[in-house]
Amino acid sequence: MKLSRREVIGKGGLAAAGLSIGLTSPLKALSRRGERAKNVIFCVVDGMPLQVMAMVDHFQQIRDGKRSYWSTLLDEPFVTNGLQDTRSLNSIVTDSSAASSAWGSGRRIWNGQLNMYPDGTELKTLFQLVQEKGIRTGLVTTTRMTHATPAGFAVSCESRNLEGLIAERYLSMNIDVLLGGGDRFFSTDRRQDKKDLYSEYLRAGYAVVKSKAEMNAARGKLLGIFDDTHLPYSIDRINSAELNSKVPTLAEMTSKALSLLKGSSNGFLLQVEGGRVDHGGHSTDLAAMIYDQIEFEDALRVVVDFALEDEETLVIITADHACGGPSLNGAGSNYDDSTAGLESVVRMKASYDVIFAEIGRTPNANQVKDAIKKHLDIDLKNEEAEAVARAAENDSPFKLGSFATGLYTTLAMVLGNYTKVVFTSGNHTNEHVLVTSLGPHSELCAGLTENSSFFDLMLASFEIEHKNPVMSYEDAKKHRGGRIDDEAMRLYCNLDPIDLAH
Ligand SMILES: [Zn+2]
Repeated sequence: MKLSRREVIGKGGLAAAGLSIGLTSPLKALSRRGERAKNVIFCVVDGMPLQVMAMVDHFQQIRDGKRSYWSTLLDEPFVTNGLQDTRSLNSIVTDSSAASSAWGSGRRIWNGQLNMYPDGTELKTLFQLVQEKGIRTGLVTTTRMTHATPAGFAVSCESRNLEGLIAERYLSMNIDVLLGGGDRFFSTDRRQDKKDLYSEYLRAGYAVVKSKAEMNAARGKLLGIFDDTHLPYSIDRINSAELNSKVPTLAEMTSKALSLLKGSSNGFLLQVEGGRVDHGGHSTDLAAMIYDQIEFEDALRVVVDFALEDEETLVIITADHACGGPSLNGAGSNYDDSTAGLESVVRMKASYDVIFAEIGRTPNANQVKDAIKKHLDIDLKNEEAEAVARAAENDSPFKLGSFATGLYTTLAMVLGNYTKVVFTSGNHTNEHVLVTSLGPHSELCAGLTENSSFFDLMLASFEIEHKNPVMSYEDAKKHRGGRIDDEAMRLYCNLDPIDLAH
């Protein structure tokens, strides 16, 4: 008997309305058919709008003479494609912690929290549930290890910003593989409370590594931290010999994680995150988004090759939400300037962060003009460079609109004259995101699926049954976004304001 998608995973709106989704009968059906997925790999590209995937497909045809990997994957007979509704409990536009928590606990929650309701009710997480069954776990990311998306699979916490606490929780949970950035939440020199988490991880039997070479040589439980904060944007790593030799790519980290997890007799659950497409979106930085999207798709190839050979692995590939709303616009007579616009990204060699680290956050127009020529190979007109310099003094010519008032959004607006790409904002957006899946039960990911239902699917694939409590929006609203202890923020949130909630 063929399983019904409706039986296993919920239809849009049910969980948000507080209705539970029955799993008993399909669970029995799954075990009867002996199709438990031994492993699950959940690949998330944070903040990817579909336009970026389309631009990368065309960018790679221009630059490399070939289609992008994810675009070719869409056409393979062994995958199922669908869409995901990404909303959170309190907004149609989710943040990354509520989005990841929807996968991590099967419940939509308040933006900014991790698997917890605003009244303090903790939700049991996916990693806690699978670890009870002896299933091994891993988190791989290009963000700080303690950032919202990886944390959402593992930790219940009042705020995503308590990253110092999240670093401790990973240790107490004994997660098998942790690879990413975020030294500031592990190192005694950088932590506010001066705890030396690296030593604690070593005492707990982890190999602790800080470079690509050390990672490649490591065995057993592994903590790899390769930067003080997020790993560099791919465009910056590629253009720096020093970074290239020290910092592994997402594909290299994924390959290492799979080599360590694959021997497990009870299987494993691995989350792989390409986390910085989202940051490129927040920065309205087109080249940063495109290069990090390619970085993510390179890691997908590693995951899919593993799953095709293994044949017992469910792979889910998706985004948690979109960010920035960049679109390549029709430009010129018969739109014949648009292709050259995207082509200009091939010549770009740095992220905005690197450019403004070089010239400072309040450059004059000449400095802007020179730096954009040097790093992005674009000759800004004087009035365009002046607009950027004015934005640096909080006087953007675009400030009448709420969504393009800052330095980066103003730069993106004038660069759009050349790239033909304009952003709607530097914020998350609410569009449905793509889901591509393969392996056992992947056919259930067809159609439009709400984010929280992927929790049900992953648990059902492992033959685990669990329901977290439901809280309505009206009840959650009484507690607003939850109360965050000031002392906890002081101890555990060693972040610049610009880093909060991204
Ligand atoms: Zn974000």
